[in-house]
Amino acid sequence: MTCCKKIKIDLAVIASLLFCQKAVEEITESPLECSAILTGSEKYSEKHSDMYIPFQEIDKASVKYKNLSEIFRHLKKTKKRLVGLWHSHRNHTSHHSQQDIYHLRNLEIKNTLYCQKTCKKAHGLISIINGCHSDVECKLFEDGVLKDIKLEVDYELLQKKSRVDLVKEVGKKIKYKGKPLRHFKRYKSILRKYQRKSLRREREIAKIIHKS
Ligand SMILES: [Zn+2]
Repeated sequence: MTCCKKIKIDLAVIASLLFCQKAVEEITESPLECSAILTGSEKYSEKHSDMYIPFQEIDKASVKYKNLSEIFRHLKKTKKRLVGLWHSHRNHTSHHSQQDIYHLRNLEIKNTLYCQKTCKKAHGLISIINGCHSDVECKLFEDGVLKDIKLEVDYELLQKKSRVDLVKEVGKKIKYKGKPLRHFKRYKSILRKYQRKSLRREREIAKIIHKS
């Protein structure tokens, strides 16, 4: 095995991805796949400073994006570049399936075209899959080929992404059985749960600041 390119990733981004999956499962009460993209700035080309949830329709073993141009509009707006793709395999292992490779190839072609148009260099796409036993497989998809990469978590880049905002994003952008998750019966109570938690957390932080 020829290993590997080293990629640094922000721990908070990983935590946000896993939280999205948790929120989806809490709202729908089913182990479903879901997906998000990783974006990065030009300056830190190998540091993933953010994640974005594209509009999507999910199921037990599939995710369908509404359209890919939405992703590129987001990149243009935020002046970020596409770094990679994450999705969960809730009922099986983190192994890349033929379909996953097909989707990656499709996205890589679109991304290369986008990079040419915006005079940026394409660096291939990182693909992260987490399976049902919390195993994670991470590959680099470059020029149509999957390569192993070593994932390093960057603790220094920790940033907060509010759980309440993530639940709202999940509710708005992810559809299951034809309806957005915010129209599910459990959505409001799940949102309230995280609003209460974040309020409690803010109070705790305020107390610590007050003491010091
Ligand atoms: Zn997959």
